[in-house]
Amino acid sequence: MSGITCPACHASNVMRQRMVHDGGTSTVTTSTTGVGGAVTGGGITPGLFAASSSGQQQSALAKKCAPPEKEPVVSVFVVAAIILFFGLLVMESGGVVRIWVTLGLAGFCVFGAITGLVQNRTEYPAKLVAYERRWICLTCGHAWERETPGAVPLPTL
Ligand SMILES: [Zn+2]
Repeated sequence: MSGITCPACHASNVMRQRMVHDGGTSTVTTSTTGVGGAVTGGGITPGLFAASSSGQQQSALAKKCAPPEKEPVVSVFVVAAIILFFGLLVMESGGVVRIWVTLGLAGFCVFGAITGLVQNRTEYPAKLVAYERRWICLTCGHAWERETPGAVPLPTL
């Protein structure tokens, strides 16, 4: 391949994890045609069945080599908004405790979302850069990070 060998078993059957992931994930439509038989009262009734399914198929190896995921920020904000919305409906009927519980829960969600946002801006780019450097050995499964010439620059935000 590219002269790169596995540091564990020295096999040259190595790939970038990004390549493994992209190559192992495909959107496919499969169709199955088969012949089946049903025994009905002394005779056999032949039948033809067809089935088709589609969706994203990912090999186990591709899953293992998946890129890092971002923290869920938008969905957490949505949860906070829902809590506030229903909390405000409750507020009309009074109840100081309920108001504080509502504000507390919504505040907690907003805090979580902001934490996620900060992590996505600070930690995620580094994780992604580290991921782009990750290689995997297809012989022994050893995974490691490797400095690549012309490495992927830090994504600018
Ligand atoms: Zn190996």
